[in-house]
Formats: sequence, structure tokens, C-alpha cells
Amino acid sequence: MLTGSCLCGQVAYAVRNAPATGTACHCGQCRRQSGHLWASADVPDSDFSLTRDDGLKWFAASPMAKRGFCAHCGSFLFWKENGSDSISFSLGSIDSPTGLRLAEHIFTAHQGDYYDLNDDLPKRED
Ligand SMILES: [Zn+2]
Ligand SMILES: [Zn+2]
Repeated sequence: MLTGSCLCGQVAYAVRNAPATGTACHCGQCRRQSGHLWASADVPDSDFSLTRDDGLKWFAASPMAKRGFCAHCGSFLFWKENGSDSISFSLGSIDSPTGLRLAEHIFTAHQGDYYDLNDDLPKRED
């Protein structure tokens, strides 16, 4: 069981059957919303539960998905594709130890021009 929360605590969640790996997304939407790349993992909705949602707001950045964040402190926590039965949660919001490792970079064609990717992880351009 993993637990996580936003910076102020008004949004908190729990994950059962936590995945072992996550991805780092370099797309423009994730970079703008998170301030840099966005590291996340996803689980089926049935393994995810909100334990506190007082601050939770959803923003539809595109017609295909919505992004969950805390309206009080600004933490970018969740990404959910419309109509899907899974949800992504940010690795940075998980209480340590996470037990997770980054396994892949995605949307690297859109990464910022201010950093390099020097690790050995697989990189997907989109
Ligand atoms: Zn918050
Ligand atoms: Zn992204």
C-alpha cells in the first residue's frame, strides 16, 4: 500500500498493488503544470482511492485527459485519460519509501531546451 498527498495535505490518496516502475513525461503540458518533467505511475481505478479530496480540482488541458491538482497548494497530483479505467499519480507526492523506480522517459521530443537526459533509461519521443 502506497500513500501520498499534496504539499498542504488537502488531497491525499492510497494505492494498492503499487506498480514497481514509473515514467517521466517531458511533454509541454506536464512541464508547464509541474514546473519540470512529471514523474508518475499508473494503476487501475480499483486500486486507487482518495482519502482526502478537499482541495482537489481537475483541469482539462486537452479533450483527451484531465489533470488533478490541489487548489489550495498547487501540487500537480493526477492525470486521467477520459474514459479510461486507470489513473496516474505523481511519484513526487508519494510518502517514502516509494519502492518505485523510473523506467522510461516519454515525450522526449518535447523536452525543454535547458536540460539533458544522461541516464540509460529508454526514451520515447512521443
Ligand atoms: Zn494541497
Ligand atoms: Zn506529459
